[in-house]
Amino acid sequence: MSRVFNFSAGPAVLPEEVLRTAQAELLEYGTSGMSVMEMSHRSKDFEDILFTAEADLRKLMNIPENYRVLFLQGGGYSQFAMIPMNLMRNRAADYIVTGQWSKKAASEAKIFGTVNVIADSADKNYSYVPDLSDLKITPEADYVYICQNETVHGTTIKALPNTKGKTLVADISSMFLSEPLDVSKYGVIMGGVQKNVGPAGVAIVIIRDDLIRDDVLPFTPTMMKYKTHADNKSLFNTPPCWNIYICGLVFKWLIKLGGTEAMREINEAKAKILYDYLDGSKLFHGTVEKKDRSMMNVPFITGSKELDAEFCAAAEKAGLRNVKGHRSVGGMRASLYNAMPIEGVKALVEFMAEFERAH
Ligand SMILES: *Cc1c(COP(=O)(O)O)cnc(C)c1O
Repeated sequence: MSRVFNFSAGPAVLPEEVLRTAQAELLEYGTSGMSVMEMSHRSKDFEDILFTAEADLRKLMNIPENYRVLFLQGGGYSQFAMIPMNLMRNRAADYIVTGQWSKKAASEAKIFGTVNVIADSADKNYSYVPDLSDLKITPEADYVYICQNETVHGTTIKALPNTKGKTLVADISSMFLSEPLDVSKYGVIMGGVQKNVGPAGVAIVIIRDDLIRDDVLPFTPTMMKYKTHADNKSLFNTPPCWNIYICGLVFKWLIKLGGTEAMREINEAKAKILYDYLDGSKLFHGTVEKKDRSMMNVPFITGSKELDAEFCAAAEKAGLRNVKGHRSVGGMRASLYNAMPIEGVKALVEFMAEFERAH
């Protein structure tokens, strides 16, 4: 077996320890006589897996009592529709567009109502986060939407917007559990798990009780109502059982490591290695304004498309996989999610330094 360093933006690297546990339990979970994949979602064993995963996530994120945790299908993208369907009572919302993912979310929300883009960084190809401290909030807006970490463009919103009393909704797909968050500042937190938490196929939604209501948009399907899933503890229909089980193992791994405080320190150390190198390099350059840099997704370029392509091909051969930038922006991108070991970042930087010397 030879596992590579996988810098993919998602689906992405998982902790090796978690994969080994899953391997050991693949044929028989506990004394159940069967795999988690074969279990009824109504069984006691699976209920334990689901409710333990939720309890562990609550502990990790310090989720207040008045928030529900939902494990849903449809990935992050379905949330772009579920959010307006469930929250847009005035058929209006404010969107802060700082990159590809918030742009997609805003565009999906237009199906359901008026979308006001109240801040936008398209003028500099989403390489920075605008000042969000005093925005023109629309009086009838039902919520203010952000993508807190833009996976493609590599920016993070470090100071949350002043929503002037409006509900804050955040997509945290690519920074889930990478650092502590104050859940009480948000109305809804959501994300697909395949970046930092587990295998593709689950979206986690953390939503304040008062936002779970019956008076959703009239055509909202049963499956798209948060209330359906909240009332049934994520067991309304068959949930993605195996994927939730793996998320649960990742939560246990994180708790053992010291939780999100410890994870933040590790992630800061990893990101610093790469950014310090980029700042000193004559060949490679980061593309994001320093103050807005993401710890998770680090885009960089040489300035020459040919050299970028040569670097990506050489890195691939050296076992540093998936450093090619997103097809919409080009260049390179290294995703340094929770499960990326610091050795991986060191190996990448050594390889970059070697490439720089040779060019
Ligand atoms: C990957 C990603 C999504 C989309 O997730 P899917 O599960 O593929 O629908 C949404 N938002 C962000 C920030 C992402 O990184």
